[in-house]
This record gives sequence, C-alpha cells and structure tokens, in this order.
Amino acid sequence: MSRAPFLRLMAPLMSIVIVSSACTLWPSGQGMAEPTRDRTPQASDAASSLNPSPEGTPAGDTREERVVSTRPHEATDVEAAYVVDPQNYTLKPKDPDGDTHVVLITVDDAPRGDSTEKLLDLFDRYHVRAIWFLNGIYAVKHPELVKKIVEHGHLLGNHTWSHPKLRTLDDATTVKEIVGLNDWIERTVGVRPAFFRPPYGMMSDTAKAVVAQEQMQMMNWSVGSRDWELKDVSAISREVLDHAGPGANILFHDKPVTAEAMETILKTLSERGYRFPAPEAPNAKVAAGP
Ligand SMILES: [Zn+2]
Repeated sequence: MSRAPFLRLMAPLMSIVIVSSACTLWPSGQGMAEPTRDRTPQASDAASSLNPSPEGTPAGDTREERVVSTRPHEATDVEAAYVVDPQNYTLKPKDPDGDTHVVLITVDDAPRGDSTEKLLDLFDRYHVRAIWFLNGIYAVKHPELVKKIVEHGHLLGNHTWSHPKLRTLDDATTVKEIVGLNDWIERTVGVRPAFFRPPYGMMSDTAKAVVAQEQMQMMNWSVGSRDWELKDVSAISREVLDHAGPGANILFHDKPVTAEAMETILKTLSERGYRFPAPEAPNAKVAAGP
C-alpha cells in the first residue's frame, strides 16, 4: 500500500482528531466478520454488545495486483437526479416533483466472487445501479470484480479495509482503514468512493472526521434484508418485499443466498413500478455524475 497518500491525508487530520500516542499499525486480530446486526440503525447508534468472530485475511495483506482501468464512472442524466437523505438514508429525487417510486440497492462486504458475478448479471437485467460497499480484504482478492462493478455502471462505496468496529480503533488505524481503502480503489480502478458505510452501522467520532476529510457521504440503510441472519431465499425476499417502500435504501450482502433471492426481489419490485437508480454524491471529490 502506498504510504504517500496516507501520510498526506494524515497531516490535516491530525488537527481534527486527537491522535493516540500509542498508535499501532494494523491490528493483527482485526479480521472480517459477518455483520451481526443489520436492523435499521438508530439515531443513538448505540454500541453493540455482539461479538463477531474474526475471519478472513488481516488488513494490510495487499497484493501488488493492479487492474488497468482509469475509465471514470459514467452516470446517466436521469439517474443523477437522486440523492440520499442524510437524516434517514432514503433515496430522494432532487426535484420535489420527481418520481419517488425508486429504491436504492446496496451490497455490503463485497466483492466475494461467484455471488458478485450473479448479482451483476441480475442488476443488468433489471436496470439496477447499485452501490457496492467494498472491504479491502475482499477487494484485493478480486480486483477484476471491482473493475467489473465499475464497468457495469455501479457506484463504489467504502466499507473499511477489514470490517472492524470503528469505535475500538485508535485514530491512526481508523485513517488507514478508510483512507487506505480509498487509495487502493483509486489506484486499482481510477475512481475514488463517494460513499461510506460503517461496519455494523456504527460510526466513531474519528471516522466522522476522516469521512468528512475524504468528502464522502456516510449512509446506513433504511431496510435490512437480514440476509446474514435469515439464510433462506424465500425468507429474505419476503423480508425485503414486505418492507420496501418509496425511497427504501436496502441493505444486502454479497452472498450466494442473497444472489438467489435477488431475482424475485427485483422482479416483484419492478412489477410494483419501482426503478433502481443510484444517487448523486453531492460533496464527493469524485462525483457520480459527469
Ligand atoms: Zn458489513
């Protein structure tokens, strides 16, 4: 991982956040865990008592593998007319008279492999522009899929490098978890994520400062598919279809069971008259639109 962008971004952050004098680099015990809560986040965003079991590769295990692509994301004019409401994370038309029969599809803990491919095919068929919230520990294993996600017209989001609980991290590690991933994504596919979603829906004060510095919009979600918990195709589709309404920001994970449930979900929502546009990123360095 390149140090230069990290250090460059650290300098201004030092004035924003109180940096621990006992900064550790990558926490060796920080591994990727399946989300253990995906209920609709509360305003209080209370600390979780759940204890996910670590899995995956320790952060920082980057391969020097690059995908040659610098093509920026190309948004369509129509779809650029939506934004994510920072209060409740729903998808809203910028024009007060705009079509509200839309839902935002978001895919966390990506990219994982076969399920990513299957979801990309379904999204093509149902004209979905999703936000894919990447983790570095997965992205380094599938740089070709990160490229493919961009080529298929989707937006990239930052879901941290190794999916830690942000409140457990010191400031320097928080910066590495977030900025390190943005740097890798930009080096790899030529775009810098405009959206951030904290693991478990839980922000920290330092993470808020880093996200602001990176000019990303933070979002949680308004409808959880509970795909991490239900593990059953019909239960997942029922959960989503029972709760999705105008502007719903639906949380999915990049998993085989989710990819299986997705066709029924997209087909039914389409029949109900919904479209699946992606939002603009109002304050991002790399905006969704041209
Ligand atoms: Zn996650």
